[in-house]
Amino acid sequence: MMAPYLLRLLCLCLAVFFVLHCAVGLIVALSGPAAVRAARRMRPRLAGRFLLALRLLPAVLALFVVAGLCVPSYLWLEPETNAEEVGPGCLAAAILAAALWTISGARGVRAAARSARHARGCERLGRLSHLPGSRLPVWILDAPAPLLSLVGVFRSRVVISSPVLSALSAGQLAAALRHEEAHEVSRDNLKRLLLLLAPGLLPGFHGFAAIERGWARFTEWAADDDAVAGDTRLSLSLAAALVRLARMGGTASPSPLSTSFLGDSREISARVDRLLSPAPFAPVQSRNPGLMAAGLALAAGCAASMLHPATLESAHRIIEQLIH
Ligand SMILES: [Zn+2]
Repeated sequence: MMAPYLLRLLCLCLAVFFVLHCAVGLIVALSGPAAVRAARRMRPRLAGRFLLALRLLPAVLALFVVAGLCVPSYLWLEPETNAEEVGPGCLAAAILAAALWTISGARGVRAAARSARHARGCERLGRLSHLPGSRLPVWILDAPAPLLSLVGVFRSRVVISSPVLSALSAGQLAAALRHEEAHEVSRDNLKRLLLLLAPGLLPGFHGFAAIERGWARFTEWAADDDAVAGDTRLSLSLAAALVRLARMGGTASPSPLSTSFLGDSREISARVDRLLSPAPFAPVQSRNPGLMAAGLALAAGCAASMLHPATLESAHRIIEQLIH
């Protein structure tokens, strides 16, 4: 296909993204079960971060190479001729990448719209309250469904229905609210949105289910651990709240960007078991300045070496092969 200068650049960026994302994504997807097993040996909060980073790695790495290598080398070294041919392989890869981003973008936008609609509905139908022990605003819904969840990506609030409010004791309610606050502090609903926006391996084939399931499990465990903070009394109260809500037939997440207190119903017994025999509590540092500085230095080093003329010329030679 003959294509003008900027359209060729777009095709090239999409094609390079697809090839890299597919190659790295395949390795990540195949190593998913082993990565989840390795994560079990970490503390839950670290395990969640590790699996999230692994899930986002193919897309982040491919975007980094496209922005840092493809675009500068093309703009610098590709002569601005009129229309030039784009090979069928490059075109097919570009179409597949466009399909991947369309699917994941639509998934993220749909989930964000549904979540915003659900949050507005809760605010319209519920009444705002500040329950003792809760730092977050709590919306109480006079609905028959047993509901307790953290709603919203940026301005999160807890939504609780009246049956749950009457069924839980003060201690159980405080422990459950601490669990939802732990989700809010670690921005778990935002991480859910990132997972929805991250493309699957191929259009129609996701490929990262094991990693995402593992992330969801360790995120619940981490919120449980942060909520009880090694306190045996809180641990028992949280386990009792989980059992009580499960017996009430607690509902699953009402929207993809909400965290339901019960989470995945298949995981409840494992969570209760952990709470009844808790490991010693050790808070995970939210930011490690040394690690962050090393990460920034590594990224700056990569960017500097990518923009080196010799690197850009080599990249351009590969691009020439790919585009034709
Ligand atoms: Zn939770």
